[in-house]
Amino acid sequence: AKAHGKGQVQLFKPGLLQGESSLVSFERQLGRAAGAGELEVYYQPIVSLTDLRCTGAEALVRWQHPERGLLKPEEFISLAESSGAILGIGAFVLRRSCADAVTWPEARPGVPMTVHVNVSARELESDHFVDSVLWCLADSGLPAQRLVLELTETVVLESLAAVERLKTLAGHGIRVAIDDFGTGYSSLSTLRSLPISVVKLDASFVSGALSNPVDRTVVEAIVQMSAKLGIDSIAEGVERLDQQELLAQFGTDAVQGHLYCPAVPDAELRGWLARADT
Ligand code: C2E
Ligand code: CA
Ligand code: CA
Ligand code: CA
Repeated sequence: AKAHGKGQVQLFKPGLLQGESSLVSFERQLGRAAGAGELEVYYQPIVSLTDLRCTGAEALVRWQHPERGLLKPEEFISLAESSGAILGIGAFVLRRSCADAVTWPEARPGVPMTVHVNVSARELESDHFVDSVLWCLADSGLPAQRLVLELTETVVLESLAAVERLKTLAGHGIRVAIDDFGTGYSSLSTLRSLPISVVKLDASFVSGALSNPVDRTVVEAIVQMSAKLGIDSIAEGVERLDQQELLAQFGTDAVQGHLYCPAVPDAELRGWLARADT
């Protein structure tokens, strides 16, 4: 007998709930999104606290869904990670980000802005990851020093192969950032075992720092420890001037948040860069 495809099996399964079947089709659409040209990469500026100039931008994926409109990552990234679609999505975002970042000096002459790209555990598990990153750099002409890969700390430590891949990439001059620093369970050992150049302080600490003495102490300690280790600190989710001032007082290197600019399409980023004159 002929084997049924996934979609056919679903048709003949009487017990399947409506919810399950629409999840299956959402997952299928997600798997095709990168190839169908439905993904977009938005960028959020990263601003130095030394002089409030923009030193880089973080790439944040969006899915222009044919029926549901513009979707944010929280609506599809975890599904993409479990289904494996993240491999195609991640490859797309990396390629797009390098190609866009190469053109930023036209809008910001003289500043070699970095581009931060989020990488999920699934991508780092792949044998092809190192080659695909190096290929993106070669293909776009982006210098390795301008690429920062953002990983959440839970991602890597268990896999020796993943750690080796990161070391190889760091050896090429690519920088590694630990995302959402302080929210995971193994922050400090991460700093010892990986070639980390940047820590990103989670937005929850930033919002807590002014009201909660524990958060304030944690933020200050992370910033100071990073400085001593020669690691840059970037605080996320900065929405108010008093937050910026506190972070500056602690010696945080850079900030990111709606106070400066939300994540915007590349064309808008370039406009912002030109206008901001920062
Ligand atoms: P993240 O890496 O921690 O990114 C920061 C998130 O905070 C972004 O949400 C950003 O738009 C949002 N944000 C920035 N400034 C502010 C602010 O001032 N206030 C508040 N409340 N939020 C702010 P976004 O774009 O929805 O992305 C959510 C998460 O999805 C990211 O968190 C990241 O973990 C993941 N993600 C995004 N793009 C990719 C990607 O290409 N690949 C992978 N693997 N994950 C991605
Ligand atoms: Ca990030
Ligand atoms: Ca983060
Ligand atoms: Ca976060």
